[in-house]
Amino acid sequence: MALSRSARLGVLVTTAASFLAVAASAPPTQGAPGIGDPYFPRLGNGGYDARHYDLDVAYAPGTGRLDGRTTLTARATQTLASFDLDLQQLEVTRVEVNGRRAEFTRDGDEITVTPRRALPEGRDFTVSVTYGGTPRPLNGPIVFGSDYGWMKTPDGVFVACEPNAASTWFPSSDHPADKATYDIRIKAPKGLTAVSNGRLVSTYDKGESTYTHWRESKPMATYLATATIGEFDVRTGRTPGGIPVYVAIDPVLKNANNVDVYGVTSAVTDYWSQVFGPYPFEETGAIVDDMPQAGFSLEVQSKPAYSAVRGEGTIVHELAHQWFGDSVSVAHWNDIWLNEGFASYAQWLWTEHKGTRSAHDSFRAAYDARPADSTFWQVRPGAPERDTMFASAVYQRGAMTLQMLRERIGDPAFFRLLPAWTRLHRYGNASTADFIRLAERVSGRQLDDLFDTWLFTPGKPAL
Ligand SMILES: [Zn+2]
Repeated sequence: MALSRSARLGVLVTTAASFLAVAASAPPTQGAPGIGDPYFPRLGNGGYDARHYDLDVAYAPGTGRLDGRTTLTARATQTLASFDLDLQQLEVTRVEVNGRRAEFTRDGDEITVTPRRALPEGRDFTVSVTYGGTPRPLNGPIVFGSDYGWMKTPDGVFVACEPNAASTWFPSSDHPADKATYDIRIKAPKGLTAVSNGRLVSTYDKGESTYTHWRESKPMATYLATATIGEFDVRTGRTPGGIPVYVAIDPVLKNANNVDVYGVTSAVTDYWSQVFGPYPFEETGAIVDDMPQAGFSLEVQSKPAYSAVRGEGTIVHELAHQWFGDSVSVAHWNDIWLNEGFASYAQWLWTEHKGTRSAHDSFRAAYDARPADSTFWQVRPGAPERDTMFASAVYQRGAMTLQMLRERIGDPAFFRLLPAWTRLHRYGNASTADFIRLAERVSGRQLDDLFDTWLFTPGKPAL
């Protein structure tokens, strides 16, 4: 995520301990209502591992009504008597497990599903939920007071859900530690374009509607899913390096467009593929929509979503997230600097690559700009609080940490470390402790002091 205004308006699912299961036919139990994230105790769910979502969404921009059916294929990690799904705001009308109607109850944003028979540990099951309503955006201190989530636009909807808004439009295990693949089918009024993750499978008109099917074949965190709908000019092709590109731009922004989004996206995707390792997804691109109420852009998987025409720096940032955040995702939300510090540092690497300013000079400027008594230095990027997870220190002090690391271990080790990180945790989840361990292994240095100082100690570090 990249903030766009000057005002600055996450343990993996516990793998069921197998030694416990040795006591054969442990009685079925209820799956936990949360995945264990200290910032969001009820997000994600225990007792199963989401594997694939089939999302069917019909949206009527005129009324704002969404009608959906989600079929989740999951694997039980304990023998389940019941389990939870996360769903905010919308009404559930029917639930089926393995094709048979199942009982469900609701407690706020938690839907508890009780199948007719217990679901055995280690086995796949499907749960289908029919639901509907009028999704509203979330708002609060987390995303610096901006609306986020499902945001109505004059011609459709702009969907950008970090960190906790995916469950405002589909029932899910709404936490990045439970990644899955997706088929996303969107029904919208004829003439509108529906843009989502991965690759376009098909689109056709029938009656007064357009039906569009997208497929994300690589694991994806819930918050990175989108179903953005509106009038769009679409350009497709390939980067010079051969990666498919899909860029959708709201035509009302045509005249505001002084950035070649297609060209920059192509060049940056290719450059990061050299620096960070192979591009992790099947397609790159951009969604540029006219959504002034969203003061941010988001690294939607395979197609970052920009709420207006943004500058080159923002495109550089969101594309770096395809490696840092999307392919390698946080284990807990308090690891968020692994996303934002890295994407911000990527912006410094880009200006260095362009010959405009070295990353060292960018570091120096960011460091010097903040006096020692600035509250900026009180946020610990390696351990922010929930409501400061997107504070500027997570971005800028996170980036400073990487420059300090680079200067300590030297360029050869540093530029081995980045692709080693994206390779080791590709399509998975990782924590700050994992990063420190790898940095020490790759460099052969002991680095605790550096990370303690820059990530975990309040106050302005001395140079
Ligand atoms: Zn970001």
